[in-house]
Amino acid sequence: MTKKQKKVLIRIIIAAILVIVCYLIPINNPYLRLAVFMIPYLIIGYDILRKAVLGVVHGEVFDENFLMAAATVGAIILGEYVEGVAVMLFYQIGELFQSYAVGKSRRNISQLMDIRPDYANIEADGQIEQVDPDEVEIGTVILVQPGEKVPIDGVVTQGSASLNTSALTGESLPREVQEGDEVISGCVNMSGVLKIRTTREFGESTVSKILELVENSSMKKSRSENFITRFARYYTPAVCYGALALALLPPIVNLLLGQESHWSLWVTRALTTLVISCPCALVISIPLSFFGGIGGASAKGILVKGSNYLEALSQTRYVVCDKTGTLTKGVFEVTHQEAAEGFTKEELLEMAACAECYSNHPISKSLREAYGHEIDRSRVKDVEEISGHGVCAYVDGRMVAAGNRKLMKKLQITHIEPNKSGTEVHVAVDGKYAGHILIADVVKPGAKEAVTGLKNAGVREVVMLTGDSRPVAEAVAEELGVDVVRSELLPADKVTEVERLLAMKGRKEKLVFVGDGINDAPVLSRADLGIAMGALGSDAAIEAADIVLMDDDPAKIVLAMQISRKTLRIVHQNIVFALAVKFSCLFLGAVGAVGMWWAIFADVGVMILAVLNATRALTFRKK
Ligand code: ADP
Ligand code: MG
Repeated sequence: MTKKQKKVLIRIIIAAILVIVCYLIPINNPYLRLAVFMIPYLIIGYDILRKAVLGVVHGEVFDENFLMAAATVGAIILGEYVEGVAVMLFYQIGELFQSYAVGKSRRNISQLMDIRPDYANIEADGQIEQVDPDEVEIGTVILVQPGEKVPIDGVVTQGSASLNTSALTGESLPREVQEGDEVISGCVNMSGVLKIRTTREFGESTVSKILELVENSSMKKSRSENFITRFARYYTPAVCYGALALALLPPIVNLLLGQESHWSLWVTRALTTLVISCPCALVISIPLSFFGGIGGASAKGILVKGSNYLEALSQTRYVVCDKTGTLTKGVFEVTHQEAAEGFTKEELLEMAACAECYSNHPISKSLREAYGHEIDRSRVKDVEEISGHGVCAYVDGRMVAAGNRKLMKKLQITHIEPNKSGTEVHVAVDGKYAGHILIADVVKPGAKEAVTGLKNAGVREVVMLTGDSRPVAEAVAEELGVDVVRSELLPADKVTEVERLLAMKGRKEKLVFVGDGINDAPVLSRADLGIAMGALGSDAAIEAADIVLMDDDPAKIVLAMQISRKTLRIVHQNIVFALAVKFSCLFLGAVGAVGMWWAIFADVGVMILAVLNATRALTFRKK
C-alpha cells in the first residue's frame, strides 16, 4: 500500500468507528446530533466534497464526485445521517480498493519492466565508474557484472556468461553468450563478468524500445473503452436530471391535484437513484481489464501495443504466416554444394559468405556460419540487397551475385538445376555461373502445435507465404498442416496476397500477419494486425508490428489469442453485470422498493466485484 492509500484507510477506520459511536449514543438535541454526525462525514468525505465543488466551478459538473456529494448532502438534509455517512464511507472503500488493484497491475507490469537499467559501468584508468546509460556513446566498452542488467545493446568483447532473458521473453531458460556474441539490453547477467562494446545508444537499445512501447500502450484505446467513455459522458448528466425530475415532478403533481406532496419521500428516492447510478464500476473496471490483459501477456513475452490490438486479436479468423524465421528456424545448414567449372566448393562458399556479409537475412547469417572464418569487410564493396532475390556485391573487385533462380534470371545468367531439393543459393562471379549451394531449414518445434492450436481456436484459414521455392514451401506446408501455401513471392506479392484476403473476409473478421520483421514490414502494417516474432534485437519488427512476440515460439500466437479472448470475456461480463444490476436497482429505487443500503451495494458492491473480475485478466494459466 502506498502512503496515500494508508491515509485513506485510516480515515475509513476512524469514520466507521465514529459513525457507530454516534449512532449508539442517544442525543436528543437535533442540532447537536447534526453537529456530531458532521465529524465522521467530513473526515471521510471532505476531499470528495472539495472535488465536487471544484467540478462545478470548472463547469465539469457531472462526475462521480458530484453524484456522491449531492446524494450525501441530500441525505443529511433529510436527517438520514447514518446513510449519508455510509454512502461516503463505502464509496471511499471502493475507491481505495480500486486504486490498490490498479497499483497492483501496474506493479506487475513494472516487474516485467524491471528491465530498465539504472546505470552502466565504464572502466576508466583501472577504476569502475557508474554512469547514466544515456551518456554512453556507441563503441564504448562497458562492464556487466554478475547480477547486473545489460544496459545497452552490444557485442561481447571479453568473457562469457549465462544471461537470464525471462524479463524479456517469459522463458526461463538462460542464454549462454561468449566473445563475439551479440547481447541485447534488458537481460540479466547471472554468472561471469562481461565486457561489451556497445553498438547502439541507450535510446535506440532494445530495452528503451520496449519500455516506450509498453508505456504508450494505454494510449491506444479499445472500442469497449471508447464506448464506456462516451457512455459516461451522456449517462451521468442524464441520471442527474432524471433524479431531479424524480424529486420534483411527483410532489408538484400531487400538489396540483390537491393531495399531500410527500416531498421527503420523493427526494429520498431521487437520492437513492443518484447513488445507484454512479458509473464507476464500468469506468474503472474496463480499462483495468485491458491493462491486466496487456500486463499478463507481457509477462509471457508478448508485447501488445494497445488495447485496440488486444481486442482485435480475439476476432482473428485468418492467420497469414511468413515461412523463413517464423515457422522455420531460419537457421540453414548447407546440405549440398555444386561448383561449376573453374571454381572450387570452398571458393563458392567464400564468395557467397563475403557478398552476404552485411545482410540480416537468415540465409546470409547461415552462409556466414557455414563459411566459419572471420570476414574482412574491407574486401566487400557496393553491396546491393534485392529483397526476394538475393544480394550483389563486389568481393575483391569481382562482381558476385548470390541468390535464388529469380536473381540469376534477372542477371541473365543460365544456372544449373540442382538434382536435390532444398533452398537454393546460386552464385555467379563476374557474370559467370559459379555453382550453387543447397541449404535446408528446419521447422520450429512449436510450429505444428501452433497451426493446430490456431485451428482449434476458431481460425478459418492458416496461410503460409514465402519467397522460397515451391518444393521447399510445399514440404513445409505439408508437415505443418497449413491450409494454403503460396511460394516464390516477392515482398510486394505478399502484400497483394494479403490484400486479396482482406477484400474477401467479413468486416468483423480480422486478418493477422505473422512475420519475423525481415523484409516483411509492408505486410505487417497492411494486415489488420501485424505480429512480429523473434523480435529480440530486431528494431524493424518492433516498430512495424502491433504485437511483438519476444521469443521465436510460434505457439505464443495461440497463447496471445487466448489471453485476448479471456480479457474480452471479462470486459463483457463486467459491462453486462454492472448495467443489469444498475438498471434494475435504478428502477427499484425510483419506485421506492429499495432504499439507500441497496443503493450502496449497487454502487460499491458492483464496483468491487467488477474490479475483482478485472484483475483476473492479469493471470493466465495454460489449460
Ligand atoms: P521468406 O518469405 O521465406 O521469408 P524472403 O522473402 O525473405 O523469404 O526471401 C525469399 C527468397 O529470396 C529466399 O528464399 C531466397 O531464395 C532469396 N533471398 C532473399 N534474400 C536473400 C539473401 N540475402 N541471400 C540469398 N538469397 C536471398
Ligand atoms: Mg522473411
